Amino acid sequence: MAVSVEGLASAVKGRVVEAGAPDYDDARTLYNAMIDKRPAAIAYCTDESDVAAALRYGVDHGLRIAVRGGGHNGAGLGSVDDGLVIDLSAINAIEVDEPAKMARVGGGALLRELLWATHERGLTVPVGIIGTTGVGGLTLGGGIGHLTRALGLTIDNLVAATVVLADGSIVQTDSEREPDLFWAIRGGGGNFGIVTSFSFRCHPLTTVLAGPVLYDMDDTADLLAWYRDFLPAAPDELSGFFAFLSIPPAPPFPEELHLRKVCGVAWTQAGEEESEALREARSFGKPLLDGMAPVPLPAWNTAFDELYGPGDQWYWRGEFVREIPDEAIAVHAEYGPAMPTWKSTMHMYAIDGAASRVANDETAWSYRDAIWGGVFAGVDPDPANAGALTDWVRGYSDAIKPHGMGGGYVNFHMDEPDRVRGMYGANYDRLARAKAKYDPDNVFRVNQNIPPAA
Ligand SMILES: Cc1cc2nc3c(=O)[nH]c(=O)nc-3n(C[C@H](O)[C@H](O)[C@H](O)COP(=O)(O)OP(=O)(O)OC[C@H]3O[C@@H](n4cnc5c(N)ncnc54)[C@H](O)[C@@H]3O)c2cc1C
Repeated sequence: MAVSVEGLASAVKGRVVEAGAPDYDDARTLYNAMIDKRPAAIAYCTDESDVAAALRYGVDHGLRIAVRGGGHNGAGLGSVDDGLVIDLSAINAIEVDEPAKMARVGGGALLRELLWATHERGLTVPVGIIGTTGVGGLTLGGGIGHLTRALGLTIDNLVAATVVLADGSIVQTDSEREPDLFWAIRGGGGNFGIVTSFSFRCHPLTTVLAGPVLYDMDDTADLLAWYRDFLPAAPDELSGFFAFLSIPPAPPFPEELHLRKVCGVAWTQAGEEESEALREARSFGKPLLDGMAPVPLPAWNTAFDELYGPGDQWYWRGEFVREIPDEAIAVHAEYGPAMPTWKSTMHMYAIDGAASRVANDETAWSYRDAIWGGVFAGVDPDPANAGALTDWVRGYSDAIKPHGMGGGYVNFHMDEPDRVRGMYGANYDRLARAKAKYDPDNVFRVNQNIPPAA
């Protein structure tokens, strides 16, 4: 039986799309086509008071609540069957205060909007590598990207936020105001409230020297053994994620390399001038292709957007690692060449450098001693390949787990309820206490959920 949402449309100012409406299928579609959820309604809230109104309606009517920022979450945690989706996409204004080097960003903005708005003022905020990802989900989980070694995680640059709490109240939080909340939202995911505004510290950086350096798949063991020693010793300004990928069948890649499975490193150096470390990196081995070039930062941060547009099937898992022993290299060398489809990939993001100089208990993100955050992603447009994607990712991540730290990044997981405690690591119990304070009834439970401490 259809869940009634009578009165919702008059309770909120923004557009409401109910199940059965002509635009319902469009409105409920998520980035990951493997997820097919049918909410009772989607409310496109216009500001924080509208979010509070929608939330009150949902709570009063016993509806499960999902909060949707960019809708990119692998597990589809921006939506919920038979419940209410509070969509933040209309709350996407960005104000950049150039002299103060600050950006105030609506809770539903996308990374590409933030990147271009700050770039116009000669500034940036370190975020993830795909521009269509939501600032909301990415930031609340931590925020890993090309500049993590140079400028820290996204949360390391968050200085304040406006949050709609479970009881509908609207609070401002920073290190002085509601400090427990401010601590919890920096890594604790969407468990604590709906963030309608993020205030970020910005950095004066417009251009990076960046691109992929790609090698024959047979070079995997040599490249990985060199990379694991080289990168942690390199200056913070240089980062590079190790990857397995298939070369995309389109320009600027040379036709003879199209669809070839390769290993490589996607390098990013903060600033245009080639450093000694980068020169050394580029001289390693015999690359098939060196695509390094000076590039405006937002262009590099959106370079994969077209390749990974919405509508593909995605299955993924993550793992934090501190070391890459020879036994782990053997696992990578086995699973890399076995990528089931050409869009499938494995990335190992460097998360040391600036991010590692924040104490483990300073924010809720509790893997400051990790050197890499690995992600195994099976990707393909054809639903018939969903099983093959899932099998490869599960096999790969299970084989790497013995070499990992017991948890993976909260934003890189889908359906592993038994690993949720591990995602929050040593900070889990404090997060559960913060949850009991700010959301004792677990209103916000469509996420990698932390039940309130008893
Ligand atoms: C192609 C691709 C590339 C990615 N690359 C990176 C990367 O480089 N670095 C990285 O760190 N992550 C990356 N991610 C992971 C990404 O951070 C997560 O998928 C994240 O959850 C996406 O946020 P969203 O707002 O788009 O998602 P949504 O699906 O809208 O939301 C995800 C979760 O966050 C909550 N949420 C979202 N916004 C808010 C808000 N304003 N207030 C409260 N709760 C909110 C939701 O309730 C939900 O639980 C990538 C994901 C994809 C699909």
